[in-house]
Amino acid sequence: MPKALMPGPDIESDAGLLDLITTKDPQREEALFAEARRRRAEHYGSGVYFRGLIEFSNYCRNDCYYCGIRRGNARAERYRLDTDAILNCCRMGDLLGYKTFVLQSGEDPWFTDERMVEILGAIRREFPDHAITLSIGEKSRESYERFFRAGANRYLLRHETADEAHYRALHPASMSLAERKQCLFNLKEIGYQVGAGFMVGTPFQTPENLLEDLRFLRELRPHMVGIGPFIPQKDTPFGGYPPGSLELTLRMVALTRLILPGALIPATTALGTISPRGRERGLMAGANVVMPNLSPKAVRKLYSLYDNKICTGDEAAECRLCMEGRIRDFGFEPDMARGDAIDGNEQSPCLC
Ligand code: SAM
Repeated sequence: MPKALMPGPDIESDAGLLDLITTKDPQREEALFAEARRRRAEHYGSGVYFRGLIEFSNYCRNDCYYCGIRRGNARAERYRLDTDAILNCCRMGDLLGYKTFVLQSGEDPWFTDERMVEILGAIRREFPDHAITLSIGEKSRESYERFFRAGANRYLLRHETADEAHYRALHPASMSLAERKQCLFNLKEIGYQVGAGFMVGTPFQTPENLLEDLRFLRELRPHMVGIGPFIPQKDTPFGGYPPGSLELTLRMVALTRLILPGALIPATTALGTISPRGRERGLMAGANVVMPNLSPKAVRKLYSLYDNKICTGDEAAECRLCMEGRIRDFGFEPDMARGDAIDGNEQSPCLC
């Protein structure tokens, strides 16, 4: 069939989505990526937003079976940065041109609401126009409101998997998918730009689980979606399982772009870890954000969510330069603007 007459990817039915999730046909896959690139370009041209990532604590009260910084991992060497060290990361980020700081950590009880508000206040005073993104896990609605009032604009909280049974297979009984979803709805209501997301290839995951992830994205309509392959970490209960597939992760990135055309979708570090050009391929499948590391070099290796994580040996400036070169090689333009979620995020109709 001539290319112009070929039907676009069918994302309107569950059967169509499942078919695209599971396809082994390289031509259909390429058509899916091309359509995702086209939708991305409609909204964002060839620009790729840069966010500076500050991993400020690897203490965590949770025990997720997949995660290298889980509470039960006695081999993890723990660290936390104080307010001055976090501010210094922001200063370095600002010098390098970043307009968004992403503060990520495990769920570390040492960072009480009061301490978080103090840190947010200090960053806000010095950088009134920057975007501040938090990624510090599940909190009460009141806590989220306090952080918002103290200057946080965005919040990343991957739902991890939208399927109940699968969620229970990845987490201890003390954790609940319903609560995690509720956090996301609370964050959205408060006014944050919200990022959900999931891992691809976690143990026991089925194509139907991934379909459920897409259905949940349609329901929540987040501004950002983080999608990365599961990668085993040797000191966790899932240390012996294989990593998620690059191709399947890319298909999920592309499908997410088609479902939420205006979303901000990072080409994740995990993608770059399972394949040397994984992040670039993420951009070619519809992603439009990268998050180079601003954490002090001394602690980079300790934020070890999974084995062989890339970019743990570079200075912040090297990370930025390296990413810029990689992006340009693939025909994209680094964009250092704040890159807020666009208004009127046009989305396909809900299937629920
Ligand atoms: N504590 C915060 C939270 O719960 O959202 C942020 C930190 S958490 C470690 C950040 C993300 O790392 C998780 O949402 C999860 O998707 C990802 N992650 C953890 N272990 C991973 C693994 N083994 N492979 C790939 N991604 C992983």
